Amino acid sequence: MHSQEPLFPASSIDRQFAHEIVRRLVDRGYVAYYAGGCVRDALLGLTPKDFDVATNATPDQVREIFGPEHTRAVGEAFGVVLIHGRIAKKRCQVEVATFRTDGSYSDGRRPDWVEYATAEEDAQRRDFTINGLFYDPIGQTVIDFVGGQEDLRRRILRAIGDPYARISEDKLRMLRAIRFASRYGFELEAATRQSIQESSQGIELVSSERIGMELEKILAHPSRHWAWSELDACGLLKHIAAELLPASDRELFGALPKEPLELPVVLASLRHPWGAQGICESDLHLIDHLAWRSGLETIQHRWKLPKLTIEAACIVVEASSVIAMAHELAWSQVQPKLLRGWIAESLLVAQLLCELRHWSSEGLDRCKERLSRPDQEWNPDPWVDGGDLIQAGLKPGPAFGKLLSQARSMQLDGQLTSRQSAIDWLLAEVGRMAKGQ
Ligand code: ATP
Ligand code: MG
Repeated sequence: MHSQEPLFPASSIDRQFAHEIVRRLVDRGYVAYYAGGCVRDALLGLTPKDFDVATNATPDQVREIFGPEHTRAVGEAFGVVLIHGRIAKKRCQVEVATFRTDGSYSDGRRPDWVEYATAEEDAQRRDFTINGLFYDPIGQTVIDFVGGQEDLRRRILRAIGDPYARISEDKLRMLRAIRFASRYGFELEAATRQSIQESSQGIELVSSERIGMELEKILAHPSRHWAWSELDACGLLKHIAAELLPASDRELFGALPKEPLELPVVLASLRHPWGAQGICESDLHLIDHLAWRSGLETIQHRWKLPKLTIEAACIVVEASSVIAMAHELAWSQVQPKLLRGWIAESLLVAQLLCELRHWSSEGLDRCKERLSRPDQEWNPDPWVDGGDLIQAGLKPGPAFGKLLSQARSMQLDGQLTSRQSAIDWLLAEVGRMAKGQ
């Protein structure tokens, strides 16, 4: 296909860098193309995230052309060299991979060996037709050995070659298929989908860390709801995320806005004790509040997520719960839950809960109003501290923390209205304690 207009407009610096790399390889007599995701994205009218180059030059030849100071072997076993440099002070990098064919797969994930090969063979070893395209930036031609352009036009996600064989080689491709289909709103071609369904148990061979990385991408994307249902329908969900119920039962998850979201918010919606189908206000006291926390911790271990991600998800669950119920709680019970960040996300989840459950938005509105005030107003400095207690004659001990937190609550709830009133209250309390009351 000869494009009327260049597929990759010269505007992007990354594109200029990739173009320069291809040009230098071609000048030295090699074949070199843009490959994979960047060609797919450009044909879809999207801005490629990064550029990969595929060539018939071997890694040694690539390193010789670009010099050791600009190259780094990143996937030696797969013939991948990273080239880095600068254009207009911006750091750029491109992965250059030698055309290859993959040997046998005995671990269900990675080839036992690879062999350098032709461009066509390199296209054949890729996963899906839409990922198997090359682009020659000098001749401005798409090179399509696998019918990828047609599938892009028809919006179909199809394995290259025999889908059963391709999935049995590398089980991760099952998750990649659902990720790409959902990201672009493509249909999973029938045989590809069928082979995923029949091979789903094999996903257990993939490392949980790798699964976690794929699921993070799937869940962050606006198409998460379709993807989650599809993971369930293809039989994968029960093997990879047994702690997270299917989308059909997760009303809160389904209500998330169709926009990119960070993982903690999505996980919070999937494990929120009030987020499952059929929960009503009268059930709230029955909910085991520790169950959701341990469920989130299990997911963290299983997917090897950073502790901070799960901590943040817990913050969103707790804060959104108190926000939604804030009209029934003292402000001193609500305010501490808002001090750990993730406020916008917690307000969002609380709002979705109120809408879903037809709860009054009184608590939510109250929190929004408070939070719109200057920080000093909704989170004022404490009026009293340990120094005041010592001055009042109390020796440091367990009573210290209790009195200070009581004073703080009374300050937040407006029962103490000035520093002086707080000190008077402390003195009275210390006096009472001294009398053994
Ligand atoms: P993304 O925008 O998500 O990075 P991508 O297509 O660039 O999409 P990568 O995972 O970066 O995906 O891989 C680059 C290319 O390498 C793919 O387009 C595909 O051709 C090939 N590829 C990657 N992973 C596999 C795999 N597991 N099996 C076969 N081919 C793969
Ligand atoms: Mg990529």
